[in-house]
Formats: sequence, structure tokens, C-alpha cells
Amino acid sequence: MMNSAELFERSKAVTPGGVHSPVRAFKSVGGTPIFFEKGQGAELVSVEGKRYIDFCQSFGPLLLGHRDPEVEDVVRETIGLAWTFGACEPYSLELAEWITSRIPWVEKVRFVNSGTEAVMSALRVARAATGRNKVLKFDGCYHGHVDSLLVKAGSGLAGDEAASDSAGVSAQTASETIVAPLDDQTAFDAIFDRHAESLAAVIIEPLPANYGLLVQRKEFLEHLAKRCKAAGVLLIFDEVISGFRIGLTGMAGLLGLRPDLVTYGKIMGGGFPVGAYGGRRDLLDLVAPNGPVYQAGTLSGNPIGMRAGLATLKKCERDGIWDKLESAGKEFSSSLNKSFAAEGLNLQVENVQSIFWIHQKTDRAIRSLKDIPAEHGVGFKKIFHGAADRGVYLAPSGYEVGFLGAAHTPEILERARGVIVEAAKNAK
Ligand SMILES: *Cc1c(COP(=O)(O)O)cnc(C)c1O
Repeated sequence: MMNSAELFERSKAVTPGGVHSPVRAFKSVGGTPIFFEKGQGAELVSVEGKRYIDFCQSFGPLLLGHRDPEVEDVVRETIGLAWTFGACEPYSLELAEWITSRIPWVEKVRFVNSGTEAVMSALRVARAATGRNKVLKFDGCYHGHVDSLLVKAGSGLAGDEAASDSAGVSAQTASETIVAPLDDQTAFDAIFDRHAESLAAVIIEPLPANYGLLVQRKEFLEHLAKRCKAAGVLLIFDEVISGFRIGLTGMAGLLGLRPDLVTYGKIMGGGFPVGAYGGRRDLLDLVAPNGPVYQAGTLSGNPIGMRAGLATLKKCERDGIWDKLESAGKEFSSSLNKSFAAEGLNLQVENVQSIFWIHQKTDRAIRSLKDIPAEHGVGFKKIFHGAADRGVYLAPSGYEVGFLGAAHTPEILERARGVIVEAAKNAK
């Protein structure tokens, strides 16, 4: 087979930037993207036959690692039944019942094909339910490539009307979104007070994990919930990344908060393209064919994704995977932190359960974009390549987090720790 560099050249001729999702192009770490041929457990194998311990895990979906044998059996069995129906079937029902019987604030759920689609649909429901148009989001949260959320804080006087952050998003669409900083209750209150009457929803990643790992104070999230409730604004938790990773019930469950609507994706499809939005029964009943909010999908409720997702979730519940991952994450992060300190390296690991993020050492917690050290991206570049050369694949950007899964055994994690520390030492 051709090597990665040759394949990338070919790809660039037929695909924008040679990739089907931008971060895969290695722009932020430089160099040529590695082309992978297969994955098994915690490992990826490149087209050159080089093996890597994988901490990207497809950016989160693979909680059990690549091709977990139990899930693979279910997938093979399903392929022998049907690939898609475009009609009613029992498989999406089983997953919907499994989720709604375990997560009290998900009274009903609708399956879609990606996290982006889930968020887009949840916003539509929120606008329909409230009769209002604006949505407040937080700077440093990612919600997929929904037009109205591809925005950044604007430079207007009030500083909270969003500006488009992507060509092709109209100023009018961007103006429907209000942007607030994370972890700043005073700023939130001022912005919320100005816009409450026109706000359909406040959307937040309750564990922001798409721009580093920006752990929010519980009180801040409680405050949002309280303000939303009092003002008739819906609270949407985007748990596409944290759902079914931070325990079965996600960040909402961990914090004891109840969003009106919640979005899922990633782990819920067991590695296949699945998303979902769910929440209050009265809100979900606004969706077609019951209600006036149109939302549909040719491949929605795809049997392979539904059954792979359910097999993954059932195994996690049966085997207590979330508790095990919480200890593994703690152990791995604290051993990395100890090694960084012992080697006099200016690095630190942030950790929540099976998510970790390596960044420059700071005195105070990093909870919003302004807290991230300016040189962060540059420092990460060298660690990334040093680790890859030594057989550890981190997500190819300093602003992406790392994911542990059930396939990362203590031996694998110890090997990875050694490699990451070696890479960091040589990156000095
Ligand atoms: C990944 C992600 C999305 C987008 O999901 P896609 O399946 O990539 O469209 C949305 N929100 C959050 C919080 C995510 O992590």
C-alpha cells in the first residue's frame, strides 16, 4: 500500500484539504497526517504497519476501544438482518427505552445521525416551544457545525451579539446568537438581563471539552438553570461528548441538574453515526408527526448504529465500566502529573473521569478561554510528534482532549505515560 504521505497527496486532489473533517489534516500540529488502516482495542495501526496507543478514540465515540468483541458480534449479526429500513423496527425502540428508563430528564428521545443534527433539531424545538428566536451560547463551547452556532463573541458595544466565525454563515443568522464567556456569572447576568425576553434557549456543554477541558463550577451551571427557569428560557445541555462518558447519566447526572433538552452523539452510536435529542415530553411532542416542528432523516434509527450503541451501553452498565474508567483516569493523570513534576516539566494534566487534557502548568484552574496559556498550542505540537514517533497517538491539536476507554489496560497506560513523558522531555 502507498504510505501516508502519498495517500495524503492523492486525497488533496479530490477532497478539500485532503480530509473530511478539518482537524484530521494536522494543521495545528504540522506534518503529514497518519493514514490508519485498522484499529483493535486501544490500538491503531497505520498503513505503514506502525502501531499506536490511541487516545483520540475517534474523538470520543469509542468508550470500549476499537472493535470491542461483544459489540462486533452484535454488528455482524445485524448486518445479516438489514442495513437500513426507512421504516419502523424494534432496534431504535430498544435503545430509546433503555435511555429513557435510566435518565429521568429524557422522557422522550428522537434519533438522528450526528451531534450537529441533534443540536440543530433541539434549537428548532426550543424556538418553536418558546416562540422566541435568540439562543445564548458560551465562548469555548462547540456544538457541531450548526450555522447559528458557528459564531464568536462580536466586537459590538455590548460585546455579546455574535459575529460569524465561518464564511457562509450570514450576519443575520449569526445575529440570532448571543455569546457569553464561560465561568463568569456577572457577565452572564448582564447579558442574560439584556436578552432574556427574546431568548429561546441557553445552550452549554456542561463539561466543555472541545477547547481543552474547561471544567465549570457547579454553582455556575446551577445559576444558569435557575435564571433560565425563572425567565422561561429553555436550558439545553449539549452532552454529545460527555453523555455516556461521564457515567451513564452524563454531566447532568453527576451534577444533579435537569436540562429541558439534551443532545447526545458519539458514544451512543458505539462508533457508528448516531445522534439524539431528548428531554421533556411536552417539548418532544412538538416534533413531527405529533407536532409542528419538522425533523426527519432517511437513515435515522439505523439498525447497526442503534444496536452497536445499545450493546456498548449495556456492557458498560453490566461491567461497571464508568467506575473503572474514573479510577483509571485518575491514576493515569496523577502518574503523569507526578512524572512531569519529577522531570521539572512545565506541564499539567486536567482530568475528569475518562477525559484528560495536557496543558502548560498554571496557578489557577482553567475554566474559560482567557485562562488558557497563550503558548499552549506551540508546546503541544512538539509533544504530539514526539509521542507519535514513539507509538502514542494523541488527538492532533492541543485544544482537543484525550480519551481513555475500557481497552486501555493499566499496562498500556503505563507504557503511554512513559512515552508522553519522554516526548515532553525531548520537546523542551
Ligand atoms: C462532537 C460534538 C458535536 C458535534 O457532533 P458531530 O457528530 O461531530 O456532528 C456537538 N457538540 C459537542 C459537545 C460535541 O462534542
